[in-house]
Amino acid sequence: MIDFTDKVAIISGAASGIGRAAVEKFVTLGAKVLAVDIDMEGLAETAALSGGDITTLYVDVSDEDNCQKAVDLAIETYGRVDVLCNNAGIGGVAVRLADMKTADWQKVIDVNLTSLFYFSRAALPAMQSSGGGVIVNLASVDGHVAMSTFSHYTAAKHGVVGLTKCIALEYARDNIRCVAVAPGFVRTNMTESGLSDSERELLASLIPMGRTSSPEEVSNLITWLASSEASYITGSCHTIDGGILSGFTLPE
Ligand code: NAD
Repeated sequence: MIDFTDKVAIISGAASGIGRAAVEKFVTLGAKVLAVDIDMEGLAETAALSGGDITTLYVDVSDEDNCQKAVDLAIETYGRVDVLCNNAGIGGVAVRLADMKTADWQKVIDVNLTSLFYFSRAALPAMQSSGGGVIVNLASVDGHVAMSTFSHYTAAKHGVVGLTKCIALEYARDNIRCVAVAPGFVRTNMTESGLSDSERELLASLIPMGRTSSPEEVSNLITWLASSEASYITGSCHTIDGGILSGFTLPE
């Protein structure tokens, strides 16, 4: 049975979607949580929904000082960091490469990839000094295959998969595991905002299992990977996509 009693988790992008579901699941399993985001209203809702021992903090994950402050606050408040879930992310504008503005490219790379460097670099010494820890990074199926008009997102998520492997190798002997999760289509603001009902149905019909996933299904995987049940798993990226990456389904 998974038990995070006396464990401390930092979760970014905790104001909505997968991050909020992860906060709720970690709290249910006994963890103390530092929930961070740029959306303070959403964070307050997450804290209210979760109950439990939660601290919230404004953190822009694309700012290295903000990431360091989050780790410092976790140590100050709870004395340790056992789990870091690098979940915050943005989709960015959909546009073909020749029309991509530098600022749009850079923003997606900063929030979805460079943030993992900042936050992991800040948290690793704390994990080392307490004897170990786990970093769970949110990749995507776009970390394995490309999504046209999302070159920035695709490049960032491929980078997340590579960075996960590097951290795993460099810190394996410090009892620190690093894993990635690669969801397909999850029902969150990122994928659902602006979609009509018929577009939602069309999207679901393209998925082998015939449906999108709930944020809770992804948070189940995140907490399992962060737990001692997954004690020999590191460096790997775990797809949770209803079969999308398995191949093509031919009509019968
Ligand atoms: P979401 O939009 O519901 O949540 C993302 C959260 O990140 C929001 O609360 C937002 O405020 C926060 N955020 C954005 N920029 C930030 C910044 N600079 N600093 C701190 N917080 C910031 O989206 P979600 O679907 O829950 O996405 C969570 C993660 O899962 C992302 O990394 C995303 O790329 C990944 N993912 C999502 C899907 C999907 O289908 N929803 C699929 C694959 C991967």
